[in-house]
Amino acid sequence: MDDQTKHKCGVFGIWDDPDTAHKCYTALFAQQHRGQESAGIAVVDEGQLNAHTGMGLVAEVFDDQMLARLTGNAGIGHNRYSTTGASRSCNAQPLLREYVGGQVALAHNGNLVNAELLRREYESRGHMFQTSTDTEVILVLLASHHLAKEDPLAEVLPHLQGAYSLVFLFDDRIEAARDPWGWRPLVLGKTEAGAPCVASETVALDAIGATYVREVKPGEIVTLSDKGVQSRMFAEPQQSAHCIFEHVYFANPSSILFGDTVQVVRERLGEKLAEESPVDADCVIPMPDSGRSSSMGYARASGLPYKEGIVPNRYVGRTFIKPSQAQREVAVRLKLNVVGEIVKGHRLIVVDDSIVRGTTTRYKMAQLRRAGAKEIHLRISCPPIRHGCYFGVDFPDAKDLIASNKSVEEIAEFLGVDSLAFLSLEGMLSCVSLPKENYCTACWSGRYPIDVEHPVNKLDLERHQLRMFSTDK
Ligand code: SF4
Repeated sequence: MDDQTKHKCGVFGIWDDPDTAHKCYTALFAQQHRGQESAGIAVVDEGQLNAHTGMGLVAEVFDDQMLARLTGNAGIGHNRYSTTGASRSCNAQPLLREYVGGQVALAHNGNLVNAELLRREYESRGHMFQTSTDTEVILVLLASHHLAKEDPLAEVLPHLQGAYSLVFLFDDRIEAARDPWGWRPLVLGKTEAGAPCVASETVALDAIGATYVREVKPGEIVTLSDKGVQSRMFAEPQQSAHCIFEHVYFANPSSILFGDTVQVVRERLGEKLAEESPVDADCVIPMPDSGRSSSMGYARASGLPYKEGIVPNRYVGRTFIKPSQAQREVAVRLKLNVVGEIVKGHRLIVVDDSIVRGTTTRYKMAQLRRAGAKEIHLRISCPPIRHGCYFGVDFPDAKDLIASNKSVEEIAEFLGVDSLAFLSLEGMLSCVSLPKENYCTACWSGRYPIDVEHPVNKLDLERHQLRMFSTDK
């Protein structure tokens, strides 16, 4: 993945497990790729909710002492990358709130496109907000509906527009809900001892020794409690809009997502790319780590040898997810080491998953040239990204997406490569199992599954909060 695109979040929940805090920790660790800015766990113990959240990686936020303090047999967890609201500690999740009916904690993956409208409406009714996240809007709606309605959650969720995979913790149950379009994944599992759990990805279930049961359906609420697992629908499922970028880049390769194993899809993307854009060369090399699976597919389909010409330093985190450009550039320099003997004097096909701004890719291509590459043919396993995402992925503004203002030839020149080709939209959609209408492709096609006339940008609610503070003064 080229610089500056950030993923959303990971969520987890487990009911009736004596080792809840450690299970949450392990599941969050397995989903670390979904968010590296903050992490948090909330547990319920004898009717009392407790939470700990902090900035940084899961292993930085939690230690044995902290986990020992999170006692209780049920809990939820969250890894965050900020897509609405700044990267700061008050926005770390799970968010914990008191309300007239008791306490609730919430972990959210996705983005609400109507969050600002809802927030304004509820502020005008006197509700106070303590964070700049769209997630808090959901809690405020829930609190305000709590006494008035028979099933407050089912009443509140239809007011939300956009992407949301949610895990709520109450004192007597966990409720997991997925938006009617199914943008973000959410799966149900069961531990060997029979404890039900939910997670963003099946890799989290694998990590805690649980088995995959099924996906939470779009428009469904699943309740985990002492009564077992119960299901109800809060909305009619809409035409699915599963984020196909999860398959291209975001998800863990071992996860099962929207009915397909991610690794298998990525290899198919590479095979299709080789079929669509062959080129005479000496070997295929992946851009670590994200281009590895599709490179394998490309090499297999083209009959060319697969070689690891760029070796990652495994002690440097995934560069794209660092919040600032300066941090990312340092991380790229540290992270990628070129293997001179594989690169020097050879015609290379380099396979990567996507290009966003192009600046990091350009730097990587220059590294290969300096190492003596004779030819560089860059192949990208998705189409050119030309549009923003309002459903849980923090792309830069459209004007900063290199493909929004440059032709493929101009991009190739900017990157300093001998040839450049992207996988076609049709080709990409042919690599997944569901009919193509079931996937969101908006960042490539510009066809948004719902109205995004008034989308919430990442810092909109932040500015809103600052305005409120200045008015108070
Ligand atoms: S716009 Fe792109 S990244 Fe966003 S949900 Fe749709 S496919 Fe995924």
